[in-house]
Amino acid sequence: MLITAVSGFLKLIRNDTLPKNKLDEYIDISLNELKRMEVVISNYLAIGKPHDKQKVRTDLLYQLQNTIDVMIPYGNMYNVQIELIKPHAPVWIMADSDEIKQVIVNFIKNAIEACSEVLDGKVSLSLSLDGKDAILIINDNGIGMNKDQENRLGTIYFSTKSNGTVLGLTFSFQVIRALGGTISINSQPQVGTEFNITIPLA
Ligand code: ADP
Ligand code: MG
Repeated sequence: MLITAVSGFLKLIRNDTLPKNKLDEYIDISLNELKRMEVVISNYLAIGKPHDKQKVRTDLLYQLQNTIDVMIPYGNMYNVQIELIKPHAPVWIMADSDEIKQVIVNFIKNAIEACSEVLDGKVSLSLSLDGKDAILIINDNGIGMNKDQENRLGTIYFSTKSNGTVLGLTFSFQVIRALGGTISINSQPQVGTEFNITIPLA
């Protein structure tokens, strides 16, 4: 309903016979609606999702392999190869399996989309163990990000895609943090992006 209101006002604003005071009024209403939407979405993400999920012993390697299988056709669509460097044994973490799958999908999907303009697109995933943590690295040789984009990553409303869902990374960051994990980013425009994720082992 909020989105409908804003698009309704934007359509009115496009009418250039509108007097200045009406224009200002519609812009103010739209900005207020957007502000409200931000609050609604923040609350939804913070309260509704990651924390109330039942955490069970889950093999991250199994989930990763499964998700890659699902994403390979999407990679093919963009001419992007997906490869995985993996350990020989299961990697047990405490998580909700649907949730962790969704997180992996989000990262791989972004990595593939980032490669849509490069000729030899490649998404390389690596799973390994380091002390008490599982380490998941997702690397792509795609479009990359500048520092400003990198800093805005994971905040609501940041998307460089016209048809973006916008909430992908916001959700993913929340899930990983709720598991006690960390995320670090290393990205360079026109070179590629690497996400380094740690998740505590079970
Ligand atoms: P969406 O993909 O719907 O735009 P996301 O939350 O998944 O929303 O991502 C937000 C933004 O972060 C993307 O629009 C893109 O600009 C940037 N981004 C995410 N992952 C990558 C990546 N691997 N390479 C370059 N940019 C990325
Ligand atoms: Mg995305």
